[in-house]
Amino acid sequence: MDGTYSQNDLSHVVEADKAHVWHHLVQHRGFDTKDPNIIVEGKGMRVWNQAGKEHLDAVSGAVWTVNVGYGRERIAKAVYDQLLRMNYFAGAAGSVPGALFAEKLIEKMPGLSRVYYCNSGSEANEKAFKMVRQIAHKRYGGKKHKILFRDRDYHGTTIGCLSAGGQDERNAQYGPFAPGFVRVPHCLEYRAADQGAPTQHYGEWAADQIEQVILREGPDTVGALCLEPVTAGGGVIVPPDGYWPKVQEICRKYDILLHIDEVVCGVGRTGTWFGYQHYGIEPDFVTMAKGVASGYAAIACCVTSERVFDLFRDDASDPMNYFRDISTFGGCTAGPAAALENMAIIEEEGLLENTVAMGDYMLDQLHALADRHAAIGDVRGKGLFLGAELVEDRETRKPVAEAQAQTVTADCMAQGVIVGVTNRSVPGYNNTLCFSPALIATKDDIDQIVSAVDGALGRVFG
Ligand code: PMP
Repeated sequence: MDGTYSQNDLSHVVEADKAHVWHHLVQHRGFDTKDPNIIVEGKGMRVWNQAGKEHLDAVSGAVWTVNVGYGRERIAKAVYDQLLRMNYFAGAAGSVPGALFAEKLIEKMPGLSRVYYCNSGSEANEKAFKMVRQIAHKRYGGKKHKILFRDRDYHGTTIGCLSAGGQDERNAQYGPFAPGFVRVPHCLEYRAADQGAPTQHYGEWAADQIEQVILREGPDTVGALCLEPVTAGGGVIVPPDGYWPKVQEICRKYDILLHIDEVVCGVGRTGTWFGYQHYGIEPDFVTMAKGVASGYAAIACCVTSERVFDLFRDDASDPMNYFRDISTFGGCTAGPAAALENMAIIEEEGLLENTVAMGDYMLDQLHALADRHAAIGDVRGKGLFLGAELVEDRETRKPVAEAQAQTVTADCMAQGVIVGVTNRSVPGYNNTLCFSPALIATKDDIDQIVSAVDGALGRVFG
């Protein structure tokens, strides 16, 4: 650490935090006996806490965000310069970095053309939901308004997004939810037997389940299908072969808009600019947030096709006929200024290529780990976005208890490596170790991560 803070300063920070901060995602009773981890500094792949302890971050800031790594001076400088020149103006006004980043982004997304700025993944998804609903009102008398979402997918924390949330334990205490959101089955091949699915052609079968739901609901009531390209928190689920072409075909057949939630996969995480680009599909909406500016500033985007955009300017004489929406902090310029530099770094440092190479290497290492530890039932991943599902028994595939998976991550943490564990979809399924190191990861970093997990599994499962 650079010595900016004295131990006294940091002790005060811990006390202030314990007295006044309500932390995300945690039962605060835990802080009765243990101090919260205050992350004081970060550089590259590593962060330091209040005790000066170094950690290799295998999850890019807890939730798949810091794609280009910590301590990037050129991003900080670009944001600093931009804030002094012009920090904020909202409403119908545009900004210099907003226009330039939109242009760069659209270059990476053939077939799409418009960028709507906001500031969180949840908000970006809400924008797409609202656009779908408005299209339903404009063109179909409100009828084609239903939004399909998939079991185990997550789209955000607002009541609208939770209404489209496929992780039951996150929803359980927050209903009632918004009407018009309908669940379709997940596509996790490892759990196909639980779904009563055939062993052959699982991808086509899983896509067919979507069609069954559409037919049950009535195709003229279904406006959009919202999916993660690779499901993140629901278990790092890489859709099986045969899935995406069928999904695209179904959307075309029933005139259903395809909304891809790239909040996690977007901007390099899977080795392409966007996760959907592995599969040759053509979405109508793509939402993104985390990796867009790697957490250097809050920014999210809802990107649409020109076909969608055109629906909102087809009748200029109608005063209701535009997207009646605003995001106050969609007018912050720090986000697009940081996002421009973030994208330039990915290009100049060849980070997509590195993600593919290091992702393949890590997948191999995790498979080798599975050869040594029976507790690993399944390994899956795309680019630097990987998961290892822990089971009690490989035959029955019974998931390990949530507490056991957490013992593994706590052991890794004690070794100075931060590993994640995904959210369960069904109580008891919180059992997939999750790895999403920054796109700058080297073989040495990956070896250190895998070796920590190796040690932890040995201690926890023997
Ligand atoms: N979509 C996905 C796939 C996510 O993983 C998340 C957040 N983890 C969100 C949306 C919501 O993003 P935010 O927390 O920025 O609202």
